Amino acid sequence: MNRVFNFSAGPSMLPVPVLEKAASELLCYGDSGMSVMEMSHRSPDYEAIIADAEKMLRELMQIPENYKILFLQGGASTQFSAVPMNLIARTGKADYVVSGQFSGKAFKEAQKMGYDVKCVATTKDDNFDHVPALTRDMFREDAAYVHICYNNTIYGTKYPEIPDTGDIPLVADMSSCILSEPVDVSRFGVIYAGAQKNVAPAGVTIVIVREDLLEYADPKMPTMLEWKIMAENDSMYNTPPTYTIYMAKLVFEYLLSIGGLTAMKAQNEKKAAILYNYLDSQSYYIAPVKKESRSLMNVTFVTGDADLDKKFASEAAKNGMKNLKGHRSVGGMRASIYNAMPIAGVEKLVEFMKDFAANNPKA
Ligand SMILES: *Cc1c(COP(=O)(O)O)cnc(C)c1O
Repeated sequence: MNRVFNFSAGPSMLPVPVLEKAASELLCYGDSGMSVMEMSHRSPDYEAIIADAEKMLRELMQIPENYKILFLQGGASTQFSAVPMNLIARTGKADYVVSGQFSGKAFKEAQKMGYDVKCVATTKDDNFDHVPALTRDMFREDAAYVHICYNNTIYGTKYPEIPDTGDIPLVADMSSCILSEPVDVSRFGVIYAGAQKNVAPAGVTIVIVREDLLEYADPKMPTMLEWKIMAENDSMYNTPPTYTIYMAKLVFEYLLSIGGLTAMKAQNEKKAAILYNYLDSQSYYIAPVKKESRSLMNVTFVTGDADLDKKFASEAAKNGMKNLKGHRSVGGMRASIYNAMPIAGVEKLVEFMKDFAANNPKA
């Protein structure tokens, strides 16, 4: 078996001890006589799994008691529709910050439904090379919520701190940074994330929502998208993605065992520093993101020559470092260094970058 360093933006690497544990339980979970995949979601064994997943996530992220945790389907993209339908009725209008492709999609989706939504800030004209500076006076005082994407997966940017929206609930897409470091959940009205970047295999979407925000659903909205109904049914209104939730539980358990999100943050900062320090020390590669907006999870860089970029990604793959090609919309390279990427993977990448630069002088 030859496992590579997989720099994919998602689905992405999972911790090896988690995969091993899942393998050891694949055919028979405990004394249930069956795989978790084969279990009824109403069985006592499964009810314990989903309850533990919730309990462990609450502990990891220090989620206050007045927040509900939901395990849903449809990916983060479905929440682009669910967010406005669940919240807009609070005041009838909402503000969006467009800092990249996903936040742009979220904004468009709310617009498409005919709601009064406003883009209050964007860095589109700068190719999203930083996140907008946000101040309270930029938001409509009577906005039902302000929506942001906390870490912009494609461009490799992140908010350096949680924006201050005053009394307006802040809604954040955290798909590509959830569990990468501690966050003060009480500063948010809603946090949501597709699991396949930093939590689990694809198939489950986590929504963390403050209880008082469950009262504003559009009465005509689809039942399956309504957070309140999912909360009242402990995420089991219908069949949840049972196996993916089990995998998420194994990841939560693993993160708790290694010291939680504080330990994870220290490791993530170390990994990102290895890459950014190298990028800052040379001129062969260009890192397009402004320093104060740099992401800990997705590091983008280019050679400035599309052919060399292509060669870089293919030679890296031959050397056991896969999926370094940037998103199809921006080109260049992107190293996604989520929680499960070991420090050794980043060290190996930097060594490869040095060799590649030495062996491929620019014309
Ligand atoms: C990947 C990603 C999405 C899309 O997630 P799906 O689960 O595929 O719908 C949305 N937002 C961000 C920030 C992402 O990184």
